Amino acid sequence: MNKPKIASDWMCGCAGCHMSLLDMDERILRIVELADLRATPITDLKEPDESGVDVGVLEGGINNTANEEVAHKMRACAKILVALGDCAVFGGVPAMRNFCGVEEALRRAYVEAESNEAGSEIPNDPELASMTQTRAIHEVVPVDYNVPGCPPDPDVIFHVLSELAQGRKPELKDDLLHWH
Ligand code: SF4
Repeated sequence: MNKPKIASDWMCGCAGCHMSLLDMDERILRIVELADLRATPITDLKEPDESGVDVGVLEGGINNTANEEVAHKMRACAKILVALGDCAVFGGVPAMRNFCGVEEALRRAYVEAESNEAGSEIPNDPELASMTQTRAIHEVVPVDYNVPGCPPDPDVIFHVLSELAQGRKPELKDDLLHWH
């Protein structure tokens, strides 16, 4: 029997959710036993299978047009989409800049921050020009499971992935209903 395929990607986050995934330690071998781990930021394969995957996992909020493309691509290829971590679920830390708007956030980061050298300017970078308000994934594409936490606990990530890989609906309750 073919194993279900899992792919993941990240957008506007800090990579901490994928680090937490790795923190499940040897249990990752159980995930690999149950599922075929395809394109992810932590595997060599980077592009999700054109034929689709069973489970797509996205870390991070949606912060620019490139992030929007990643979210649409994963949604289009995954039967089940998981939003992993607070940034993905509700915008998290990156969404704090929504209170001041894109221009002010860029000015603060590149011009005013104490760590900048005198005369620093906002870089002329197309990626910065395409910045939008930070949004949760569900504001851009439909999400099937939200897994909160900053980052979600490795036990929670293991539970979610192993249940989905076995065709079951993951339920977060009791000891799993905690996050950092
Ligand atoms: S939820 Fe927390 S750990 Fe995950 S990407 Fe966002 S800031 Fe990083």
